Amino acid sequence: MTDQDRLAAIVGHAYRNAPHLRAKYQAAAVDPTSWSDDLFERLPFTTKDDLRLAYPEGLLAVDRTEVAVVHESSGTTGEPTPAYFTRGDIDEWLDRMLFNGVGLTERDVVFVKTPYSMLTTAHQMHGAAQRAGATVIPAGNRSELMPYSRALRLLRDYRATVAYCMPVELMLFARRALAAGLDPAEDFPDLRAAVVNGEVLSPAKKRFLENLWSITLYPDYGSTETTTLGGACRAGALHLWSERFRFEVLDPATGSCAPHGTGELVVTSYHRRAMPIVRYRMGDIVTVTDASCPCGSDRPQVRVHGREADRLRVGGRDVFPIDVEDVVYGALHGCEPVFWSGEVDGDHLSLELEATEAGAAQVRERTDGLAAALKDRLGMRSAISVVPPGTRMTLDRQAEQEAMFKPVYLRTCGQGGRTLDYTGTSQEH
Ligand SMILES: [Zn+2]
Repeated sequence: MTDQDRLAAIVGHAYRNAPHLRAKYQAAAVDPTSWSDDLFERLPFTTKDDLRLAYPEGLLAVDRTEVAVVHESSGTTGEPTPAYFTRGDIDEWLDRMLFNGVGLTERDVVFVKTPYSMLTTAHQMHGAAQRAGATVIPAGNRSELMPYSRALRLLRDYRATVAYCMPVELMLFARRALAAGLDPAEDFPDLRAAVVNGEVLSPAKKRFLENLWSITLYPDYGSTETTTLGGACRAGALHLWSERFRFEVLDPATGSCAPHGTGELVVTSYHRRAMPIVRYRMGDIVTVTDASCPCGSDRPQVRVHGREADRLRVGGRDVFPIDVEDVVYGALHGCEPVFWSGEVDGDHLSLELEATEAGAAQVRERTDGLAAALKDRLGMRSAISVVPPGTRMTLDRQAEQEAMFKPVYLRTCGQGGRTLDYTGTSQEH
């Protein structure tokens, strides 16, 4: 089957069976039942708004008896966006989850520390780990039932080899471990890796966390609607699962799409039956390349920069929060856990670094180098302060906070951004 055959089949299925897509394509005067090679490029995009507008069943393309599970995500507006899966859809997604370079086997014990409630995230690792023959510890999200003290005990006493969580969790765990007199790098000898998702991760923060825990991080990239779209290989690159999806990069300025380059990622699943994913705009700004990789895979590589709304202009150049994060953790490599937050005003960054008491002196020694790196790499002037633990975030409060928080690291002066306190809910994946 050629890619065009696969696209014609899935788009035809969507057109015949998903009422919302049928109406959308008819309104655009595109008829997928008479396929031509340029038809796909003429299909209107599916957006997050379509998912909301089609609620609850407008994108459902199979008989209800074929639906095995319905998941749901809700963004900042709280409007629900459903995600339906057949049994076959689930099998395909679990298979894909095992493409990740972490290479799970029956010897692994996988500590699943992401939400099970309605999102796909925990379920995809839970199912994939069991498929690989591994043992699962289904800890789930932070909650009153799962305070950090208990999570840390589970991680250690059941000898987890792989943690599955958001990157920020590894920082929180490390701080909790240090407070309990444990060294994350020494006192969890079975832990070999973490598969992380749900947050954009800079290369320097990845190295920082790897050093902190003495493990290897394998990012996973995806969303509840699409499930996993890509993951890290053994060589550390983030690959897209291009045998399962058609990936396009949309230039928002011109509206044109290309297989590579920088722009918004657009995805089409070749396989999804219950809720076809056709030209779905992820909302993430990415760079996709076909660079060769030491791992030998010819899957494209992707770097995720963040949401379009996160983009800042500093001195005439684009800066994403992840770029600031990369400089911050590059300068602080080897320090104890540090949380950062900042406010940007023109080309000036007011930066707060929250360090542990034991680590504060070391962080202070790095601030001059950090300021120089911010100036050199991002053209930012900066004022840096080191603040004590609990200024921005307390672990006890954390467990009580809204369950699906994501850190908001950077705000822009005068634009009503929220101050980072590690409790704000940013755009969800
Ligand atoms: Zn690779």
